[in-house]
Amino acid sequence: MAVLRVDPKACVASGLCAAMHPALFRLTEEGLGEPVRGDLTEADDVESAEDVAACCPGAAVAVLDSA
Ligand code: SF4
Repeated sequence: MAVLRVDPKACVASGLCAAMHPALFRLTEEGLGEPVRGDLTEADDVESAEDVAACCPGAAVAVLDSA
């Protein structure tokens, strides 16, 4: 189980997160990434979110251990 966060101040509105995993990320009207939901309960989702965090050009995505 993990918590997914996007720092809107760090996001550079690339749209990459929503393109990579639209089930986990969506874009605001300003084009900023935001989590579709904050709690990740599936291991696959945690892995996908970590992939996005590694690729995010603003280093805005955080996957935090909630255990
Ligand atoms: S990948 Fe990162 S920089 Fe790009 S929209 Fe998503 S959070 Fe913002």
